[in-house]
Amino acid sequence: MFSRRHWLHLLAAIPGFGALATPLAEAAQKAAARDYFKMLGVKPFINAAGTYTALTASSMPSEVRQAWLYAADHYVHLTKLQDAVGARLADLMGAEAAMVTSGAAGALTVGTAGVLTGADPEKIRSLPQLDGMKSVVLTQKTHRFGYDHAVRSTGVRMQEIETVAELEAAIGPQTAMMLFFNDANDRGQIKDEEWVRLGKKHSVPTFNDCAADVPPVENLSRYLKMGFDLVTFSGGKGMMGPQSAGVLAGRKDLIEAARLNTSPFSDTISRGMKVNKEEMLAMLVAVESYLKRDHAADLREWNRRCEEIATAARQVKSVESEVFLPPIANHVPHLALRWDPSVVKITPPEVKQQLADGEPAIEACPLTSKERLVFGVWMMQPGDTAKVARRVREILRSASA
Ligand SMILES: *Cc1c(COP(=O)(O)O)cnc(C)c1O
Repeated sequence: MFSRRHWLHLLAAIPGFGALATPLAEAAQKAAARDYFKMLGVKPFINAAGTYTALTASSMPSEVRQAWLYAADHYVHLTKLQDAVGARLADLMGAEAAMVTSGAAGALTVGTAGVLTGADPEKIRSLPQLDGMKSVVLTQKTHRFGYDHAVRSTGVRMQEIETVAELEAAIGPQTAMMLFFNDANDRGQIKDEEWVRLGKKHSVPTFNDCAADVPPVENLSRYLKMGFDLVTFSGGKGMMGPQSAGVLAGRKDLIEAARLNTSPFSDTISRGMKVNKEEMLAMLVAVESYLKRDHAADLREWNRRCEEIATAARQVKSVESEVFLPPIANHVPHLALRWDPSVVKITPPEVKQQLADGEPAIEACPLTSKERLVFGVWMMQPGDTAKVARRVREILRSASA
């Protein structure tokens, strides 16, 4: 039998074939032969959780990887690439302007910095000292979240309000911005459209964090159309771009100011949130390819995965399944399994642990609680569903009376 390597050598001997096919194919083969994660003792797993940063979130589709590798092969002027990528992104999203950031959290910082400093070089240098700048960001109490640290890191103070009257009373000469957490829309008294209207009424810029809020794909332009001055989406969640990238889009003057507050400019608050050509190009291609996807087919496939796992699990007595759709963030089908603990004598967190420790290793969704075992199926790869279905049934069955 000839090995693959032999075949490549034979092909190389055919005039015209060698120069083209062999070096690339051999490089790919060599790379594949080096199992880096194994070498490092870091075990990969099936991602049946979703787009969680600690679990490395999403996997770039091949056209995005190709863009990354293409960028890696060429030097360019970073600012010119930012101009061009930003213009194309703005076009795709229906924004005045856009930029690639170091994730949605990075966008919260650079965007807020831009709002505070404008194009003033003194102010840009001075952050997070706010001398001569506005210093308060208003937000609804129910919209406070861990990521607003990325806003506070510019030096501003968050002031919480609940009602329209409180908001209008709070707006004053120190009000820099009104921050909105899109996923909290249902939890706050002031909804998205009214937030925008109040911002415009008082000439205060509004910023909507929509990091995890595609699908639906329409959201990419929805909140810009609604009138938010800035919006951000995470790059490495639903759009499956680089996990370390994101998009900030909105008003042209604010995007220009945001860009002055980050790399390649060294004396800036966000210099540490550097984005290079690989992230920029791959992020653009991710948005392009996300817009072109067959979203109905994605939805069918996610439902099918839920059903396949549910069907296997329900073969164990007392197991019940439910497919649920989180309303805004991670708005994709998730599978929840429940069972009678007197019949299947194991808790959902224990099953989650056994899945993680098993072979293949499987990470279930962190939404798992004492009451239910949850799977987020959208980031799984081809062939994963059957493996997850088999392991879940196996674990539940062996815990059954
Ligand atoms: C994930 C998330 C972020 C952070 O996104 P990154 O792209 O990882 O920086 C910010 N805000 C919200 C609401 C998120 O869900």
